[in-house]
Amino acid sequence: MPIRPRQTRKPPIKTQRPDPVAGVDLTFACDCNTVRGALIGVSPHNGNRVDCYCHDCRAAEVYAGQPDPAPDPVGIFQYKPDKVRIDAGQDQLAVFSFSDKGVLRWQARCCGAPLFNTLRSPKIAFVGIRTDRVSDATALGPVVSRAFVRKANGKRGHDGLRHALFNFASNAITARLTGRWKQTPFFDAATGEPVSKVHVVSAAERAALVLPDVQPPQA
Ligand SMILES: [Zn+2]
Ligand SMILES: [Zn+2]
Repeated sequence: MPIRPRQTRKPPIKTQRPDPVAGVDLTFACDCNTVRGALIGVSPHNGNRVDCYCHDCRAAEVYAGQPDPAPDPVGIFQYKPDKVRIDAGQDQLAVFSFSDKGVLRWQARCCGAPLFNTLRSPKIAFVGIRTDRVSDATALGPVVSRAFVRKANGKRGHDGLRHALFNFASNAITARLTGRWKQTPFFDAATGEPVSKVHVVSAAERAALVLPDVQPPQA
Protein backbone atom coordinates (compact mmCIF):
# COMPACT_ATOMS: atom_id res chain seq x y z
CA MET A 1 0.00 0.00 0.00
CA PRO A 2 1.44 3.37 -0.93
CA ILE A 3 2.06 5.61 1.89
CA ARG A 4 -0.13 8.58 1.72
CA PRO A 5 0.64 11.77 3.45
CA ARG A 6 -1.37 11.94 6.52
CA GLN A 7 -4.37 14.10 6.08
CA THR A 8 -4.89 16.52 8.81
CA ARG A 9 -8.42 17.35 9.39
CA LYS A 10 -9.17 20.93 8.69
CA PRO A 11 -11.78 22.66 10.67
CA PRO A 12 -14.95 23.08 8.64
CA ILE A 13 -15.14 26.36 6.80
CA LYS A 14 -17.54 28.61 8.51
CA THR A 15 -20.03 29.83 5.98
CA GLN A 16 -22.33 31.33 8.51
CA ARG A 17 -21.44 34.83 9.45
CA PRO A 18 -22.83 36.48 12.46
CA ASP A 19 -26.24 37.84 11.65
CA PRO A 20 -26.08 41.30 10.19
CA VAL A 21 -27.89 43.58 12.53
CA ALA A 22 -31.41 42.96 11.43
CA GLY A 23 -33.55 45.94 12.21
CA VAL A 24 -37.14 45.82 13.27
CA ASP A 25 -40.10 47.98 12.35
CA LEU A 26 -41.52 49.82 15.34
CA THR A 27 -44.91 51.47 15.31
CA PHE A 28 -45.57 54.82 16.93
CA ALA A 29 -48.69 56.84 17.62
CA CYS A 30 -49.91 60.03 19.25
CA ASP A 31 -52.08 59.81 22.38
CA CYS A 32 -55.36 59.60 20.48
CA ASN A 33 -53.97 57.32 17.74
CA THR A 34 -54.84 59.73 14.92
CA VAL A 35 -51.21 60.23 13.91
CA ARG A 36 -49.56 56.88 13.56
CA GLY A 37 -46.88 55.17 11.58
CA ALA A 38 -43.68 53.18 11.85
CA LEU A 39 -39.94 53.50 12.08
CA ILE A 40 -38.50 51.11 9.53
CA GLY A 41 -35.49 48.87 10.12
CA VAL A 42 -34.55 50.19 13.54
CA SER A 43 -31.63 48.79 15.46
CA PRO A 44 -29.42 50.20 18.21
CA HIS A 45 -26.67 50.47 15.56
CA ASN A 46 -28.36 52.76 13.06
CA GLY A 47 -29.63 55.42 15.39
CA ASN A 48 -28.84 57.02 18.74
CA ARG A 49 -30.86 56.86 21.85
CA VAL A 50 -30.31 60.12 23.67
CA ASP A 51 -31.66 61.50 26.92
CA CYS A 52 -31.87 65.28 26.85
CA TYR A 53 -31.99 67.44 29.98
CA CYS A 54 -32.00 70.82 28.24
CA HIS A 55 -34.38 73.68 29.08
CA ASP A 56 -35.83 73.81 25.59
CA CYS A 57 -36.87 70.16 25.57
CA ARG A 58 -38.55 70.69 28.93
CA ALA A 59 -40.19 73.90 27.77
CA ALA A 60 -41.40 72.19 24.59
CA GLU A 61 -43.19 69.58 26.67
CA VAL A 62 -44.91 72.21 28.76
CA TYR A 63 -45.76 74.27 25.66
CA ALA A 64 -47.32 71.15 24.12
CA GLY A 65 -49.52 70.73 27.18
CA GLN A 66 -47.53 67.89 28.71
CA PRO A 67 -46.22 67.67 32.27
CA ASP A 68 -42.73 69.03 32.94
CA PRO A 69 -40.51 65.93 32.62
CA ALA A 70 -37.83 67.17 35.07
CA PRO A 71 -36.00 65.70 36.83
CA ASP A 72 -36.41 63.03 34.15
CA PRO A 73 -35.00 63.67 30.69
CA VAL A 74 -36.82 63.78 27.39
CA GLY A 75 -35.93 60.53 25.61
CA ILE A 76 -35.17 60.82 21.90
CA PHE A 77 -34.13 58.30 19.27
CA GLN A 78 -32.14 60.01 16.53
CA TYR A 79 -32.93 58.36 13.26
CA LYS A 80 -33.29 58.68 9.49
CA PRO A 81 -36.27 60.63 8.10
CA ASP A 82 -36.53 58.35 5.04
CA LYS A 83 -37.19 55.49 7.45
CA VAL A 84 -40.13 57.23 9.10
CA ARG A 85 -43.43 56.17 7.59
CA ILE A 86 -46.58 58.06 8.51
CA ASP A 87 -49.59 55.79 7.95
CA ALA A 88 -52.35 58.09 9.15
CA GLY A 89 -52.87 61.63 10.37
CA GLN A 90 -50.18 63.35 8.29
CA ASP A 91 -52.48 66.40 8.10
CA GLN A 92 -52.47 66.53 11.90
CA LEU A 93 -48.74 67.24 12.13
CA ALA A 94 -48.17 70.67 13.64
CA VAL A 95 -44.77 72.22 14.17
CA PHE A 96 -43.37 74.92 16.41
CA SER A 97 -39.97 76.30 17.28
CA PHE A 98 -38.59 78.53 19.98
CA SER A 99 -36.79 80.75 17.47
CA ASP A 100 -36.80 81.40 13.76
CA LYS A 101 -33.68 79.30 13.30
CA GLY A 102 -34.28 76.76 16.06
CA VAL A 103 -35.03 73.07 16.04
CA LEU A 104 -38.45 72.19 14.65
CA ARG A 105 -40.62 70.48 17.23
CA TRP A 106 -43.39 68.42 15.70
CA GLN A 107 -46.51 67.51 17.62
CA ALA A 108 -49.91 66.00 16.87
CA ARG A 109 -52.49 68.75 16.47
CA CYS A 110 -55.30 66.34 17.50
CA CYS A 111 -54.12 65.67 21.07
CA GLY A 112 -50.96 67.75 21.44
CA ALA A 113 -48.62 64.77 21.79
CA PRO A 114 -44.98 65.72 21.06
CA LEU A 115 -43.63 63.33 18.44
CA PHE A 116 -40.52 64.45 16.54
CA ASN A 117 -37.70 66.96 16.28
CA THR A 118 -36.07 67.88 12.99
CA LEU A 119 -33.61 70.49 11.84
CA ARG A 120 -34.71 73.40 9.65
CA SER A 121 -33.53 71.94 6.36
CA PRO A 122 -34.36 68.50 4.95
CA LYS A 123 -30.87 68.42 3.40
CA ILE A 124 -29.43 67.53 6.78
CA ALA A 125 -31.43 64.34 7.11
CA PHE A 126 -32.20 63.98 10.77
CA VAL A 127 -35.17 63.16 12.92
CA GLY A 128 -35.46 62.64 16.63
CA ILE A 129 -38.50 60.67 17.67
CA ARG A 130 -39.74 60.60 21.23
CA THR A 131 -38.77 57.20 22.64
CA ASP A 132 -41.97 56.98 24.68
CA ARG A 133 -43.99 57.06 21.45
CA VAL A 134 -42.64 53.82 19.97
CA SER A 135 -44.19 50.45 20.60
CA ASP A 136 -41.07 48.84 22.04
CA ALA A 137 -38.38 51.21 23.27
CA THR A 138 -36.10 48.31 24.28
CA ALA A 139 -35.51 47.67 20.54
CA LEU A 140 -33.77 51.06 20.42
CA GLY A 141 -30.97 49.78 22.63
CA PRO A 142 -29.46 51.55 25.61
CA VAL A 143 -29.08 55.31 26.00
CA VAL A 144 -25.75 56.18 24.33
CA SER A 145 -25.66 59.86 25.13
CA ARG A 146 -26.97 62.18 27.81
CA ALA A 147 -27.22 65.80 26.76
CA PHE A 148 -26.98 68.84 29.04
CA VAL A 149 -26.06 66.95 32.19
CA ARG A 150 -24.04 68.62 34.95
CA LYS A 151 -20.26 68.44 34.62
CA ALA A 152 -17.81 68.50 37.51
CA ASN A 153 -17.14 72.22 36.84
CA GLY A 154 -20.84 72.95 37.39
CA LYS A 155 -21.55 73.68 33.72
CA ARG A 156 -23.82 71.73 31.42
CA GLY A 157 -22.23 69.23 29.06
CA HIS A 158 -22.76 65.97 27.26
CA ASP A 159 -21.97 62.32 27.88
CA GLY A 160 -21.24 60.00 24.97
CA LEU A 161 -21.60 62.77 22.43
CA ARG A 162 -18.85 61.53 20.14
CA HIS A 163 -20.65 58.27 19.47
CA ALA A 164 -23.92 60.06 18.82
CA LEU A 165 -22.32 62.62 16.54
CA PHE A 166 -20.59 59.95 14.50
CA ASN A 167 -23.82 58.09 13.86
CA PHE A 168 -25.69 61.30 13.15
CA ALA A 169 -23.07 62.51 10.67
CA SER A 170 -22.73 59.21 8.85
CA ASN A 171 -26.50 58.89 8.50
CA ALA A 172 -26.85 62.47 7.26
CA ILE A 173 -23.93 62.27 4.83
CA THR A 174 -25.16 58.97 3.37
CA ALA A 175 -28.64 60.43 2.91
CA ARG A 176 -27.18 63.46 1.16
CA LEU A 177 -24.95 61.47 -1.19
CA THR A 178 -27.66 58.99 -2.15
CA GLY A 179 -30.41 61.59 -2.49
CA ARG A 180 -32.39 59.82 0.21
CA TRP A 181 -32.74 63.12 2.10
CA LYS A 182 -35.57 63.89 -0.34
CA GLN A 183 -37.64 61.12 1.18
CA THR A 184 -39.05 62.72 4.27
CA PRO A 185 -42.56 63.05 5.64
CA PHE A 186 -41.65 66.41 7.20
CA PHE A 187 -40.65 68.54 4.21
CA ASP A 188 -41.51 69.23 0.62
CA ALA A 189 -38.20 68.23 -0.96
CA ALA A 190 -38.75 70.51 -3.97
CA THR A 191 -39.12 73.69 -1.93
CA GLY A 192 -37.36 72.63 1.27
CA GLU A 193 -40.37 73.91 3.22
CA PRO A 194 -41.85 72.01 6.17
CA VAL A 195 -45.18 70.31 5.36
CA SER A 196 -46.87 72.34 8.08
CA LYS A 197 -46.45 76.05 8.76
CA VAL A 198 -43.95 76.63 11.56
CA HIS A 199 -45.28 78.48 14.56
CA VAL A 200 -42.44 80.45 16.09
CA VAL A 201 -43.16 80.78 19.80
CA SER A 202 -42.70 84.39 20.86
CA ALA A 203 -40.19 85.31 23.53
CA ALA A 204 -43.09 86.34 25.76
CA GLU A 205 -44.85 83.00 25.31
CA ARG A 206 -41.59 81.18 25.97
CA ALA A 207 -40.95 83.24 29.10
CA ALA A 208 -44.45 82.47 30.35
CA LEU A 209 -43.66 78.75 30.47
CA VAL A 210 -42.94 78.10 34.10
CA LEU A 211 -39.98 75.78 34.60
CA PRO A 212 -38.90 75.29 38.20
CA ASP A 213 -35.14 75.15 38.63
CA VAL A 214 -34.27 71.46 38.62
CA GLN A 215 -30.64 70.37 38.49
CA PRO A 216 -29.82 67.71 35.91
CA PRO A 217 -27.86 64.65 37.07
CA GLN A 218 -24.08 64.67 37.25
CA ALA A 219 -22.20 63.54 34.13
ZN1 LIG B 1 -33.02 69.05 24.57
ZN1 LIG C 1 -53.59 62.62 18.60
